[in-house]
Amino acid sequence: MKEIYEITAPIYHPSPPDKWSYSSLSLFKKCMKRWWLTNSKYSNSQEGKYPAPSSIAIFHGNIIHTLLDKFNTHVKQVIDNSSDYTKVLQGFSIRKTIHTELQRLLNKENRTNPRTSIDYITSGIDLNYCINQFKTIIASVDFQKPSTQSTPSVSTKPNNNRTGGKRWIEINDPPICGKLDLVSRQDIIEYKTGKEEEGHIQQILFYAYLWWKKHSTLPDSLIIIYTKTKIIKEIPLPTEAELNQYEKELRENITIYTSKIIHKEISVSPDRTTCEHCSVKQLCNEYWNSDQTDILRENKGIEFDYFQEATWTDAEIQSLPPEWTPGKPLIGKAMTKNLELTIQIDNQKCPTDTTRKPTSARILGGLLEIKNGEWFLSSKTNTEVFWKYSK
Ligand code: SF4
Repeated sequence: MKEIYEITAPIYHPSPPDKWSYSSLSLFKKCMKRWWLTNSKYSNSQEGKYPAPSSIAIFHGNIIHTLLDKFNTHVKQVIDNSSDYTKVLQGFSIRKTIHTELQRLLNKENRTNPRTSIDYITSGIDLNYCINQFKTIIASVDFQKPSTQSTPSVSTKPNNNRTGGKRWIEINDPPICGKLDLVSRQDIIEYKTGKEEEGHIQQILFYAYLWWKKHSTLPDSLIIIYTKTKIIKEIPLPTEAELNQYEKELRENITIYTSKIIHKEISVSPDRTTCEHCSVKQLCNEYWNSDQTDILRENKGIEFDYFQEATWTDAEIQSLPPEWTPGKPLIGKAMTKNLELTIQIDNQKCPTDTTRKPTSARILGGLLEIKNGEWFLSSKTNTEVFWKYSK
């Protein structure tokens, strides 16, 4: 068992960030406790933040972003006004770039993120999917247009005079920062590899505000490209009055958030939508005790008689099999708050320290079934098991 799978209290609490990014602001707004637990320091986590496990979708997104970044660099290096764009495309080695990036990401995760299952990621990565998404974007976006042009820089025709790439912007007052996916002349373009969400519009408006503060002018356009559905959305530019109102609310929020962090006023309100994909729920007692999140746990109100199919669930094992000892795979009768069941946990997810026995376990993504007329909960490749010890 890796060290991170022992549940420990933070050793240091976080300070307010020097600069707020869009993701830190929205995380704080959604659930302050999640921000707090993520940014605290733990004796069994080497990284600055508590790690979140990477998913295949995150890997796909990172690979596609890197492809676009490298493609931009390639275009800038080779193209001139007389160049044949087809040849520029042919000169870019998509597969080689993907393989190099995949290896880099896997090495990094292996080195820094004990929660990522490398086997699970490598078995699910779809390189052809990444290539198709990449081709969709470069066929749709005119990376370069004259900066005076007022129509969006989205076309079906490639332009042979392209520039762009990720751009980091930060300002001190208010203290905010952002990494923009692509800036082409005066256009801000965001790629999204998942489904459409309201938060994407808020994100690009945050970047528009950041740009406005940095350059004292607005970008020419704000564009979101959904690579899966090939939908290209142009978001209307905010007016100056809207930007001023935005700034007022942003400053107020940063003041409130900073004060809450300094005074450790941690609010928490678990609910199904907020908690379902929370990466620190194993550390959050409210999640395990709230009626609002019952549906995500083993006591999701399933009637034994009507339970037909296996289901993925979280579960808190409050009473471990008395005959089981650490150093061995766990199998035996156990109790959650509401169920008596048999649990089976792989050896590699069980504690190896034979000198002490955990008192309970929090299981994320176990498989719940009925076997031989009894509830049966087992760990699978992607299941995480966190262990609690008495102090
Ligand atoms: S489990 Fe829910 S309430 Fe707890 S930190 Fe995560 S999002 Fe917040």
